[in-house]
Amino acid sequence: RAAATARSPWPYASALITGMSGLPDARRKSRLCRRLSRWMRMPVTRVWSCWKGHWKVVKMKRILTGDRPTGRLHIGHYVGSLKRRYKLQEEGNYDEFYIMIADSQALTDNFDNPEKVRKNVIEVMLDYLAVGLNPNKITFFVQSEVNALTELTYYYMNLVTLPRVLRNPTVKSEINSKNFNESIPVGFATYPISQAADITAFKANIVPVGDDQEPMIEQTREIVKSFNRIYDTDTLVLCESLLPNNIYQRRLVGTDGNAKMSKSLNNCIYLSDDKETIKEKVFSIKTTSRRIDEPGIIDGNILFMYLEAFCEDIHFKKYYSEFNNLDELKIAYQKGGIGDASVKRFLTEVINDELTPIRERRREYAEDLEKVYNILKEGTKKAKKTADKTIVEVKKAMKLNYFEDSEYLNELLNSK
Ligand code: ATP
Ligand code: MG
Repeated sequence: RAAATARSPWPYASALITGMSGLPDARRKSRLCRRLSRWMRMPVTRVWSCWKGHWKVVKMKRILTGDRPTGRLHIGHYVGSLKRRYKLQEEGNYDEFYIMIADSQALTDNFDNPEKVRKNVIEVMLDYLAVGLNPNKITFFVQSEVNALTELTYYYMNLVTLPRVLRNPTVKSEINSKNFNESIPVGFATYPISQAADITAFKANIVPVGDDQEPMIEQTREIVKSFNRIYDTDTLVLCESLLPNNIYQRRLVGTDGNAKMSKSLNNCIYLSDDKETIKEKVFSIKTTSRRIDEPGIIDGNILFMYLEAFCEDIHFKKYYSEFNNLDELKIAYQKGGIGDASVKRFLTEVINDELTPIRERRREYAEDLEKVYNILKEGTKKAKKTADKTIVEVKKAMKLNYFEDSEYLNELLNSK
């Protein structure tokens, strides 16, 4: 199913095609795609030929995203990416939608703990279904089962330098927080390259993520550009990240005040936490100590960062009717007279309100694990097929297709 947009870029045609004469067909097409993408402000991945003065542009929307099975999913995942995935699913304006459980990537810093990764594959899958992601609309798969991803990673490694890999700010901060010191596993330092393989294997052009993944998307784009240039092809597709508009959702802070809530940092409120646990975690959040009548400080206040990310006016109606909205609460808090305990009580209600239906759906799916297992198994089969198609194209572009249609043999015979 292709979303076809027939829009004539004719007035711009001369600008679009300058500097293309003499280029091979594939280069002309990929350059045209890039220029059209800029002009149309959306990713254009294929251009059909010109017919009676009208260009027919076919835009394929392929979405890919994923999570590491290093623990259950938390509210950072929810606001950073899961909510957007659900919205995209419901809008239905896409051709293919893949969600990957990144177990191979999880092993790069958990290689000595395979049990943890194994156990969490199904936990993550349960979280997906719990937030309403639908296996009839989305293909869910396990990364390690798709061999093509490892093969692509190996080829892409030649396109990236070591200093470039280590310059990645997310990798840098993760290396620091994991105390690897000098013993950084090569697999860990280079995991953004494997992410490029994941994205490009499915020719995804849209990747809904939190902002810690921006450097990975940038790295992927660089690999795509290098690959297509070096091998003179348009096989690989440029992708774009899709970040939440709300800055507090792009990177939700941890309950310990760390800049990022993260499974590996143990500072999370999980989607599956019950109300009592949520309350405990919210009440453990540190705020500046003050007397209740003293003015409160909003800047850097974790409670308000969570409220910015989660609460809507309806929550005030339900749980804090003295105020109509967050702005009013903020003003009152800054004046003094509002204690942190009452804000914490409100925040607990807001988070619990959002998580209650998720928790209930999770419980239902957990009672039928065989069904969940089969969803993942079937999805993985489908994902394998798609990635295998890409690897054939990639190898062809790299001239590694020796035994296809006797091409290599013909070349050998003709060169005699
Ligand atoms: P780990 O600590 O194992 O890396 P994680 O909590 O960082 O786990 P990932 O599986 O690495 O989670 O991330 C999956 C997706 O969720 C990514 O798109 C990431 O950007 C997003 N995400 C993770 N944590 C947050 C957060 N605190 N705020 C917003 N988005 C997040
Ligand atoms: Mg992470």
